[in-house]
Amino acid sequence: MQDHELYRRILGIEAPWYVDSVELKLELGEIHVRLAHHDMIDWSCPECGAACKLYDHQPERQWRHLDTCQYQTILHAEPPRCECSNHGVRVVRMPWAEPSSRFTALFELLAIEWLRAASQKAVAEMLGLSWDEIHGIMERAVKRGLERRKAETVSQMGVDEKAFRKGQSYFTLVNDLMRRRVLYVAEDRKQSSLDGFWETLTPEQISSIEAVAMDMWDPYVASVREHLPEADGKIVFDKFHVAQHLGDAVDKVRRKENRTLKAAGDDRLAGTRYDWLRNPTSMEPKDRKEFAELRNSELKTARAWALKETAMSLYSYVYERPARKHFRWWHNWAVRSRLQPMIEVARMLQRRFENIITYLRHRITNAGSESINAKIQWVKYTARGFRNKQNFVHAIYFHCGGLDMAPESTK
Ligand SMILES: [Zn+2]
Repeated sequence: MQDHELYRRILGIEAPWYVDSVELKLELGEIHVRLAHHDMIDWSCPECGAACKLYDHQPERQWRHLDTCQYQTILHAEPPRCECSNHGVRVVRMPWAEPSSRFTALFELLAIEWLRAASQKAVAEMLGLSWDEIHGIMERAVKRGLERRKAETVSQMGVDEKAFRKGQSYFTLVNDLMRRRVLYVAEDRKQSSLDGFWETLTPEQISSIEAVAMDMWDPYVASVREHLPEADGKIVFDKFHVAQHLGDAVDKVRRKENRTLKAAGDDRLAGTRYDWLRNPTSMEPKDRKEFAELRNSELKTARAWALKETAMSLYSYVYERPARKHFRWWHNWAVRSRLQPMIEVARMLQRRFENIITYLRHRITNAGSESINAKIQWVKYTARGFRNKQNFVHAIYFHCGGLDMAPESTK
């Protein structure tokens, strides 16, 4: 019959399968397509591919397929079981769907493509899917993608923490700094949060890691040391995290000095907090001139600021030896500065120095994760439907993992 042949072609059904009947349920807006198969001498075992005989059929199953025109299209078939001499009785692989899915592979692919671009809510409405169905499609997509990624190497990675709700709960993120994608997400920011990451890697992948950018956060350091060979030469404390510590110290000096000055009727430092953190070259000419007067003054804050800027010039060195010399000289100056916050930050940086200087060898920072963070913001924004953290984790992998998620049979 002609319409059967038409449907077979539209649906991409291939021998031994054929379209047995097509039923249009106008009132429901549905098309039901029943598939059957010709007699086959051999089926192939889903485990080993060996030729084996038909054993029996399972009861009928249904798969949602791409709509035909505006009609929801549902495929029906009785999955055959074959008997393999090695694996026993198994359901054969249906060419249009993955084993556990109630959707055809092409439908899943469509849903995946739409979910990449639109919110879960919009896709659920457009395709007539429930939250559970949407999450199921995303979860399977992520699982396929993570499985396929096992073959790739990662030379530079960054460990970053991310607050889910401001200051309430944290996630640990591991990013691939070269390909700008998320490799791993775990709840919390403990050592155990990062420990789980190493288990997802093959030994080849672990030995391909050359450098790890991270905050000066001991639980992460402990995890990397425990799992990555020669970790001490590979850990690079993030340049912006170092700058942040120095900036905080300058601000402590400023606040204290501001109180003293104000008591004497001098408000030169009031409202200047951000001036001391900004790069003077990005200021308006008028502001820059005013700021120049401040930082050339005899104020303690100006001295603290000079200490911060000098510390950061470490990052413009090319070679390690002069950089070490610079740091020793700077540390001496800082600890004699009589500015308590600067003394404290200098001691802290000295304690961490061996993994700060590694920057000169590896030249990595977590700034590369910024584009990932922007995407995670979007995921969070469209995340109001998340009933639990696990769905949020899947959504991060889905949108930021750079994964190849297409169902096998659509490739
Ligand atoms: Zn087999």
